[in-house]
Amino acid sequence: MNARPKKSFGQHFLHDSRYIDRIVSAMAPRATDFVLEIGPGEGALTLPLLAAAGKLTAIELDTDLIPALQARAASVGELQIIHADVLKVDFTALAQRHGIDRLRIAGNLPYYISSPILFHCVEHFGAIADMHFMLQKEVVERMAAEPGSKVYGRLSVMLQLACRVEPLFTVPPEAFRPPPKVESAVVRLVPLAPQDRHDADAGDVYTVVKAAFAQRRKTLNNALKQLMDTDAIRRAGVEPGARAETLAPGDFVRLAKIYGGQ
Ligand code: SAM
Repeated sequence: MNARPKKSFGQHFLHDSRYIDRIVSAMAPRATDFVLEIGPGEGALTLPLLAAAGKLTAIELDTDLIPALQARAASVGELQIIHADVLKVDFTALAQRHGIDRLRIAGNLPYYISSPILFHCVEHFGAIADMHFMLQKEVVERMAAEPGSKVYGRLSVMLQLACRVEPLFTVPPEAFRPPPKVESAVVRLVPLAPQDRHDADAGDVYTVVKAAFAQRRKTLNNALKQLMDTDAIRRAGVEPGARAETLAPGDFVRLAKIYGGQ
């Protein structure tokens, strides 16, 4: 153990047991759960999660870490390590292969690809029960931000339309080896039940949200010029002179429906 952490893999190993315990208790895995961990590293979270759940599947990109982790886990429970880039793993197919409805996902995520991992999860929300992630504190603040906040943007809207975002606690750099340059935070994400999800086309929502926030200081009238006219914005019940940062997630859904002709 104690391999030299690799910067290129975003390796910051959690070593402070107080935070490890808090993550495990927040997730509270049970023997009936199918737990999937992203980036197990040296096993700081893997081993306690495995002890609680009895079995666990982990996805790790760094081959060098796998044999030692597999050996340490042998006396704790049944650990399956998939050697892959998490962005290439189809979570829905993984759940189906194991004959289970929904995965419970955990991870102290590699920060260099945390947003792509979040969007990858959103694509597979139908196969996910919940997620407990360590992320940069600033990313968690953006995810949970409300309209009108300086950090409210694309990530806030896209995630809040798809799941409940619950920031849990912050974690200082000293809790990791090596310490990252930024503060971290743990967040719980719970995908919305099908009846609570919006019924607009996901691609249309993405297009409208992206255009609306491309230039934050512009009014919607200007920002959405290529997509829809002033009347169409009004028909969505939105004030064309407003800025994207003041709109609630539901406003974007109505704009997307008008844009998509729904
Ligand atoms: N879970 C460990 C802990 O808390 O100490 C390690 C966390 S470290 C921040 C991120 C982990 O993700 C590393 O083990 C790294 O090798 C792995 N990783 C980086 N990129 C990955 C990718 N694309 N797919 C899967 N794992 C990746």
